[in-house]
Amino acid sequence: MNSLPPRSFHAALGPITIAALLVLLAWLFTSGRSPAPRFAPPGAVSASVIEQAQPALALPLSGSYSSRSTQRLLVMSADELLSEQEEARLAADLERALDYVVVRFGHSPNGTISTYLGHEPTCGLHGIAYTSMRTVQVFTCRELPLSRALSIAAHEFVHQLSHDRYGKAHLQADLVLMEGVATWGAGSYWLGHAPDFRTFVRPWLERNEALPLATSYVGRPISDMNKLYYQWASFVEFLLERDGRERFDILYTTGSGAPGSADYRRVYQRTFAELEAEWKAWVLGP
Ligand SMILES: [Zn+2]
Repeated sequence: MNSLPPRSFHAALGPITIAALLVLLAWLFTSGRSPAPRFAPPGAVSASVIEQAQPALALPLSGSYSSRSTQRLLVMSADELLSEQEEARLAADLERALDYVVVRFGHSPNGTISTYLGHEPTCGLHGIAYTSMRTVQVFTCRELPLSRALSIAAHEFVHQLSHDRYGKAHLQADLVLMEGVATWGAGSYWLGHAPDFRTFVRPWLERNEALPLATSYVGRPISDMNKLYYQWASFVEFLLERDGRERFDILYTTGSGAPGSADYRRVYQRTFAELEAEWKAWVLGP
């Protein structure tokens, strides 16, 4: 058991250099209705993410936590958050998620990842990755199945692996690539029954409902954020499939945070707009 007063924990972490806040549609999981097919097939994670340098939710950990260590994870979960069964399998489930994203993303963690499962009273499932601190947090509630929290953890783990692979350049990565690769890397944890992100987003493009890729989600509805994350994942999928990992890795280190800010022209000899047009044709193609 560990008690983590929020103030001391915050102080221990110091300045936060990067954070990815993932806000999930609480109603999706709590209303008892089927997820709207427009945004997510049954079983898929419908999610949105807010990226900010100084997150408003600064490590709001409080209360008592149980902790255990695995080979690569320090796992802590808020007391009475999980059922006995979930508690017993939590560390193994998180290890399995990490295994999955390590293989898919192609990079192992450079060190232990502290992984916290906290209680979110409103059931607004969300996650955050403090990659400089090797700390991932997911907030959930008793009413949500553990699988939902694991999906978020998988996404946050990829943020950590991105930092481990690309170093400090990760902190200034193009948002499209940063969130795109984290979502793509989480693969089946986000896809539900869809085989890939191209298939997932195709209906939006067919109905002309896709958003421009270089869209900031700031101030937009959660449904738009959700859509952008899937679109960005399919854009990453497109770049990786067509031009390979080596060039993608070079591209990832050239951004300056804003969506579309990476040096696409130097790496792919095309503007972002040209690549977006090619991505659309690829999604809609045979
Ligand atoms: Zn993220």
